[in-house]
Amino acid sequence: MISSFQKLKQRSLCRKFSELPKHIKILPSYTQPKKKNIIFHRAESKNPPLGQTWSNLHEACYQKTKKQTLESNSFMGSLCWNGFELMKQRTWRKLTPQKVKKWKEDPILQDPQELTKNIKFASKFFGSDLVGITEYDPRWTYVEDSEKISQFQKTIVIGIAMDDEAISLGNSFIASGEVALCYSKLAFVLTLMCKLIEDLGYKAEASVNGDSLSIPSAIQAGLGHMGRSSLLINPKYGPGIRLAKIFTNMPLINDKPLDDDITPICAKCGQCAKKCPTQAISHSKEPNYDNPTISNNPGVLKWAVDPEKCFKQWCDLGHDCVICIRVCPFRKKIYGNKSTSVQRFMEKILNK
Ligand code: SF4
Ligand code: SF4
Repeated sequence: MISSFQKLKQRSLCRKFSELPKHIKILPSYTQPKKKNIIFHRAESKNPPLGQTWSNLHEACYQKTKKQTLESNSFMGSLCWNGFELMKQRTWRKLTPQKVKKWKEDPILQDPQELTKNIKFASKFFGSDLVGITEYDPRWTYVEDSEKISQFQKTIVIGIAMDDEAISLGNSFIASGEVALCYSKLAFVLTLMCKLIEDLGYKAEASVNGDSLSIPSAIQAGLGHMGRSSLLINPKYGPGIRLAKIFTNMPLINDKPLDDDITPICAKCGQCAKKCPTQAISHSKEPNYDNPTISNNPGVLKWAVDPEKCFKQWCDLGHDCVICIRVCPFRKKIYGNKSTSVQRFMEKILNK
């Protein structure tokens, strides 16, 4: 008798993966990431050396800041997560089904080209800044969630741009609140999108960061590149983007990954590595296969970020850190100044 994991492996072998840009190299030894190794899960299970859990930290931070103004109070950040938490309960399942019988019968909405056009229009209309489509790729799904998600054929990647003014403030409860607010906005878009897909007669599963990695799918869906900071770098918004996915069986047309490569820019720039308060980002000249902790996913050629050091900074602050986003020259405002050779180089690449 074969195990469910073996079955999954067999199914995966029959799949045709979407392309990745040629400069992204994946070793044959690459295996799916494990959820239990995510830094937040390790922290919750009090796996040393982390010592702190994220929820305890929020409480301690609230006690420290509760007498201050809303702007400098940790309550602000927590408040902004509420849209996300509410939508995560998947309340859309309880929403009234729309009268879409006619739509279902209409051949226009069975045509992949028309479906793709409509899905992209809806995503933008509901509030997303970016939307791209790629083949569902089981390599990015956490082993623990593989069985649940492997029934889907497509991944719709959705992005919400962060407010640049908030990021400009650097580490603060406002910038942290902006991160949370983006996830709440994403949850709103995901809710309406999943409802739309189901009403059109297809299956949809919303996913933020819980079931699978977002960045590889975003790269395959043509939404950007991976920077030294391990963040997605989008040509328009730089690293100031928050991502989520919808897995579906709707027959959609895939986007193509961008064909340029920002590795030479990141090799020259290194600002995120220089300015990272805990020196969590690799300073190495070239991307490599080094992986500092068990929370890193081995087998991909990249500059690795040390999640233990990064998490320590978040714990010390009592909220998430935005320095690697703030200092990146790909952020539109800095990019807008066009004052350095790195920025001129980027301009050339982005305008081609
Ligand atoms: S979030 Fe902050 S601590 Fe983490 S890698 Fe970025 S700059 Fe470093
Ligand atoms: S700060 Fe520089 S090195 Fe870091 S991701 Fe942005 S462009 Fe690349």
